[in-house]
Amino acid sequence: MAVDDALARPAAQQPQWPDIEAAHQVRAVLEGVAPVVRAEEVDQLRSRLAEVAGGTAFLLQGGDCAETFADTTERYIAGTVGTLSRMASILTRAGRLPVVTLGRIAGQYAKPRSAPLDACGLPSYRGDIVNGIEATIEARVPDPHRMLRAYVNSSAAMTMVRALVATEAVGPDDHLPYEHGFFTSHEALLLDYERAMLRVTGPYDPKLYDLSSHFLWIGERTRRLDGAHIAFAELLANPIGLKLGPTTTPEQAIEYVERLDPRNEPGRLTLISRMGSTEVHDVLPPIVEKVTASGHTVVWQCDPMHGNTVISETGYKTRHFDCVVDEVRGFFEVHRTLGTHAGGLHVELTGDDVTECLGGAQRISPADLHHRYTTACDPRLNRRQSLELACVVAELLRPTS
Ligand code: PEP
Ligand code: MN
Repeated sequence: MAVDDALARPAAQQPQWPDIEAAHQVRAVLEGVAPVVRAEEVDQLRSRLAEVAGGTAFLLQGGDCAETFADTTERYIAGTVGTLSRMASILTRAGRLPVVTLGRIAGQYAKPRSAPLDACGLPSYRGDIVNGIEATIEARVPDPHRMLRAYVNSSAAMTMVRALVATEAVGPDDHLPYEHGFFTSHEALLLDYERAMLRVTGPYDPKLYDLSSHFLWIGERTRRLDGAHIAFAELLANPIGLKLGPTTTPEQAIEYVERLDPRNEPGRLTLISRMGSTEVHDVLPPIVEKVTASGHTVVWQCDPMHGNTVISETGYKTRHFDCVVDEVRGFFEVHRTLGTHAGGLHVELTGDDVTECLGGAQRISPADLHHRYTTACDPRLNRRQSLELACVVAELLRPTS
């Protein structure tokens, strides 16, 4: 029972369900449902990511920090998919590289938290799949039935994504370069949900897939090497992402690569560095050097959001657009110097005109943040900031002749 063994390891950031029997019943229901995605699509993404790892394609990943059930609407999903599509076409044109697009969408409902209690002294909100965001003690009680709603909403969002992608045009300016693929992803955090979405399938050689999403990543707070999340990810046929923060050592990176890419398959593992704009120059190069020397061909992706989070003078969790750009530039510089492929970008964004991140051409200031600060968790780039960032990355990708 490899899955049970993996999940018997210490698992960080899991809710304490008050009714464990109810959680088991929900899991049993989910074990029998039609999956959110198909194994064939997962395999297709793996081969696209092999191209990214090999340096002939670019990976764009983005969407909410935390999706909410309330925002599983046609308008909202079209805003996210449309923004990503527009970014992908900006990047494709400049880089002359196919862009593989991955939404943080159709399942990004579970959040790791740095503290068990929030600023009001209530148990922290852990994402709509676990508890409610409303600031009451009742809403914050973990409810395993929320996993059913997460499955239903993920499936509905997936249907909407498929419909938008099939129509090719998701907005007046948003033409999806869909021939390179639009896939879904979320953090593999809530193990009761992820294990229930496991399916052994495949036309010739059945493998174990987590069919809650095409791509799953392990976050900075749950990546301990002896923990359940890494052991779970090891078992999957899905491509896996791993967030690497500024305390990661090159030796740890090698252990991760050996555990998560044991067969040395380009595209299997995406290392998502989220170092912070001041750390990326020092911390990333020895990691890239050591992994490259090990012979593993990973996707190198930059998350310029999570290492650059600050509290504004007006009290909001925010990120400055300039720091985001600085980390992206640092990431490209490191790879240019080492002769490796700066393969991808991973951002938190929304198609809405929110005021959550500072700066950009709109010059959002600390005093503006309260106008439209609607995120359920971390601050997101709004549509204009997202397109601006795509233009910066496009310049960095432009072939020098
Ligand atoms: C996230 O991607 O929302 C997240 C929590 O990131 P990290 O694990 O890098 O902190
Ligand atoms: Mn986040």
